[in-house]
Amino acid sequence: MTNHKKLIIILLGPPGAGKGTQAKLIEDRYNIPHISTGDILRDAILKNSALGKKANFYMQKGDLVPDNIIFDLIENRVDQPECKNGVLFDGFPRNVRQAKMLQNMDYIKDCENFFAILINIPDEEVIKRLSNRRYCPKCKSIYNLIHKIPKRKVNGVYLCDYCGTELIIRDDDKVETVKNRLKVYYDSAEPMIDFFRNLSVLHIIEDTVLQEDVFHEITKIIEEELIYEPSDRHKLSFASSERQKWS
Ligand code: AMP
Repeated sequence: MTNHKKLIIILLGPPGAGKGTQAKLIEDRYNIPHISTGDILRDAILKNSALGKKANFYMQKGDLVPDNIIFDLIENRVDQPECKNGVLFDGFPRNVRQAKMLQNMDYIKDCENFFAILINIPDEEVIKRLSNRRYCPKCKSIYNLIHKIPKRKVNGVYLCDYCGTELIIRDDDKVETVKNRLKVYYDSAEPMIDFFRNLSVLHIIEDTVLQEDVFHEITKIIEEELIYEPSDRHKLSFASSERQKWS
């Protein structure tokens, strides 16, 4: 299923909503690269690069990294040849300013397949999930000690099922930081969600426990509207006036 026109998907939702897990499934299904600003920043921190040093200051507290840093990072990333057929954004945009920056980028100007998908979960579930989350710093796989338990544990440490690396708890998954991340999320994400709603590109999924159910909902949303190459007229359900509003 790779003959679609340029496809841009934004996954929205509080931390712990399962965006990273869904992103990997979507990436495989639609053959578009997964761009996680959080992963890019964490990599930069591990490498102790100039970007990492700047980002770490904000991330440790659960605050957002300044928009100008994120803009540069996104512009460089979507310029890569593998982003020609589209991308899946996870963790970007985070506020209205970033959403407007995206709206003004040449990269999305001609895009007819644009979806903002919000996965909603309650706060108690966020805290429960994040405190049980384990993360592979090498291949970025995500586990959960309740629903997705790693298969191997050596000397009390879980290992990644895919690459064998020792799994870690992300610094920003500690309870106090999570509470601040939730506050930051509600302050900045709600106006942004309205922004996408007003552009008629927002779809909301009320999370169920099963990741497969969420993925099923996501593919249903996309496939109802996806426009293929060459133009497949009968799939046009995203009114052209709405599309013009976006582009
Ligand atoms: P995430 O992995 O998406 O939960 O992001 C982890 C942390 O990285 C966030 O708490 C922010 O500090 C930072 N971050 C990731 N994406 C962005 C973004 N688009 N804008 C600002 N900060 C970000």
